Amino acid sequence: AIPLVIAVSTAISAGRGILIRNRKAFENAMNPDVVVFDKTGTLTVGELGITDVISFDPEMDEGEILSYAAAVESASSHPIARGIVEAVDEVLPVENFAAIGGRGVMGHVNGSRVKVLSYSYTEELGLMVKDPRVDELMEQPKTTVFVTVNDELKGCIALADVIRPEAREATRILKSRGVRCLMLTGDSQRVAEWVASELGIEEYQAELIPQEKYEVIRGLQDDGLRVAVVGDGVNDAPALAQADIGIAIGAGTDVAIESADVVLVRSNPLDVVDLMDLASATYSKMK
Ligand code: ADP
Ligand code: MG
Repeated sequence: AIPLVIAVSTAISAGRGILIRNRKAFENAMNPDVVVFDKTGTLTVGELGITDVISFDPEMDEGEILSYAAAVESASSHPIARGIVEAVDEVLPVENFAAIGGRGVMGHVNGSRVKVLSYSYTEELGLMVKDPRVDELMEQPKTTVFVTVNDELKGCIALADVIRPEAREATRILKSRGVRCLMLTGDSQRVAEWVASELGIEEYQAELIPQEKYEVIRGLQDDGLRVAVVGDGVNDAPALAQADIGIAIGAGTDVAIESADVVLVRSNPLDVVDLMDLASATYSKMK
């Protein structure tokens, strides 16, 4: 039988758009030691708009760069993908699409192999070009992705996101309660630095792939800490599944929701605080 207090709490939480999928995790939500936040789509709105398109190939204009990228991105549900696809009138078909977890996407467009990749992965592959326009972009708090065609770097696309106003209040309250806040992101150091400083988050790590995010969670747990993870995307699923309390932001993907213990339907980071309060109220009444 389900104890009455829990049944009532679950009803209250559902009314506030907090869906509890795992009761043990709900109990753990009373007192996490650390709350780990994903960046894109969690602390930020995740509605990215294109600010710059650069071509490195004199035979290709910016429109073609965008068009190749949009074709591949049409098969991805990442916020970056949505931002790029929205910017074109017509989307070319893509074949053999594959996501390169936390690093980019690839597929065949018009018989060419097209990849859209992160800065760090493009460098790792030895494909980065020396260009002052890239240096200038990388100094700005923009998410910049690089477009290769048949393994030659052709251009890049910069996108800007907006910080969720409620994220500032949420991290402030958590810190005031002695809860450690940590941001983990696959995005660049510069973008991470900007979001962290805007939100007053002192602890963050950038350029992480999903496996590395997962390992950070494991490391915290090995130190005996109770860890909540808040995330939205496909790339957060391993970390969400490993967390003591896995919290999916509701606007996120099905994969994230399937891996989570709790879903925040309103996509409001302040609901993390509500969840803690509700768990405390529920379990202190039972004792
Ligand atoms: P975050 O931790 O900020 O939510 P992700 O782990 O989802 O970011 O992605 C990390 C990085 O991988 C992105 O900043 C981007 O460079 C690259 N990436 C991920 N998905 C895509 C995509 N669909 N298209 C292009 N690049 C992508
Ligand atoms: Mg994300």
